[in-house]
Amino acid sequence: TWGRVKQQLLETVGRNNYANWIEPLQLQKVDNGVALFSVPTSFMANWVARNFSDQILKHLKALDVPASRVEFKVETVNAADTVRAASSDSSAAAPIARAASESGPSVEELPGAPLDARFTFDNFVVGKPNELAHAAARRVAEGGPVTFNPLFLYGGVGLGKTHLMHAIAHEIQVRDPKLRVLYLSAEQFMYRFVQALRDRQMMDFKQLFRSVDVLMVDDVQFIAGKDSTQEEFFHTFNALVDQGKQIIISADRAPGEIKDLEDRIKSRLQCGLVVDLHPTDYELRLGILQTKAENYRAQYQGLVFADGVLEFLAHRITTNVRVLEGALMRLFAFASLVGREITMELAQECLADILKASDRKVTVEEIQRRVSEHYSIRLSDMIGPKRVRVIARPRQVAMYLSKQLTSRSLPEIGRRFGGRDHTTVMHGVRRIEELQTTDSQMFEDVEMLRRALEA
Ligand code: ADP
Ligand code: MG
Repeated sequence: TWGRVKQQLLETVGRNNYANWIEPLQLQKVDNGVALFSVPTSFMANWVARNFSDQILKHLKALDVPASRVEFKVETVNAADTVRAASSDSSAAAPIARAASESGPSVEELPGAPLDARFTFDNFVVGKPNELAHAAARRVAEGGPVTFNPLFLYGGVGLGKTHLMHAIAHEIQVRDPKLRVLYLSAEQFMYRFVQALRDRQMMDFKQLFRSVDVLMVDDVQFIAGKDSTQEEFFHTFNALVDQGKQIIISADRAPGEIKDLEDRIKSRLQCGLVVDLHPTDYELRLGILQTKAENYRAQYQGLVFADGVLEFLAHRITTNVRVLEGALMRLFAFASLVGREITMELAQECLADILKASDRKVTVEEIQRRVSEHYSIRLSDMIGPKRVRVIARPRQVAMYLSKQLTSRSLPEIGRRFGGRDHTTVMHGVRRIEELQTTDSQMFEDVEMLRRALEA
């Protein structure tokens, strides 16, 4: 029956939606009027529940299935299973299973984390800040002789490390389904390890981790300070490298900067290719927004953006891509609810909290640093006693900018300038205000500094 319902849904929701959201659903049972489906990720569960529940129910009812409600359960599947589910060619599943039964534990026993079907190379927008990481990930996914081993990706939260790792896993599985790809977080690695110790199954554990062709460990900084887990990780790492197997690691910072990580591990992590994902720039953010908006458009037919809205978001939400995505998704959902065009006003109203939170907070210290760099004076002179003009003037500029760009009061600013009186600060602020009207160089300096600080 579910097969027939799916067939009908294909017609009503369209090909794209069908492939993304309906195809991966599995009907587990119908019980007490509840149709229970399993889905690969909680994101999908939420999305499908919100967007397709009614249609699924309608079609089920039309075929006399006694369901009045749908529920979704997140089923943790490993990498191979996900790829198999996503593959339209059902024969693709066979070689995986066969290869697995011939060598070591079966694929089903691979204790990997589920792969997110959306994290593919196709969906990854490339820009200056991530082009190197992307190129390296592509190269590793293409296979061939193992050149970069390990590949070490690092960067701040939400810059695409996990996305790239999943993309590599997808790509490798598609290219060669026989390869055993294991993706998991460092936390899961530790959890497995501790469990194996407790259950006295270290042999199985070692055998399992040494039998994969590609090992990916996400957020490796997590095992810093966890001594026996590090030890085991080190041995696993060496065993795989010795066999010429590919290893891919991510972390939130460079290997040398992870505290409480053994030196021998640090140096091991550094011996392949280390690439970082830089914070996003405006162009990349806009590119990501445009791509994602395009994808949503299929979902929310007829919704349009007024000119400048995406640019506005790319400009204002600079923290990380995850927040950017969340904002866009909310905008679409909200606009479809109220049935309005997505205007600047709507965006501001609907995203007020996000916009507020990502307003850059400039600090007095940062201002002092920038200003002293600009005028080539020492930072210590900002708070020091010198009164010669070449130092006093930049100090006044810094005071002025502190008043303009932070919410500090005059006495608070004074305190940060070596305990100066609030009247001194007020005098400085006034002086710079005046000078800007008479001295064009001053005007330009202040404008430039303001822009740099607000960027
Ligand atoms: P990290 O692991 O570095 O914290 P993620 O890989 O989880 O970050 O990325 C956070 C979110 O942002 C994900 O939904 C991901 O798809 C998205 N994302 C990040 N970078 C890009 C990019 N360049 N193109 C498209 N989506 C991206
Ligand atoms: Mg991550």
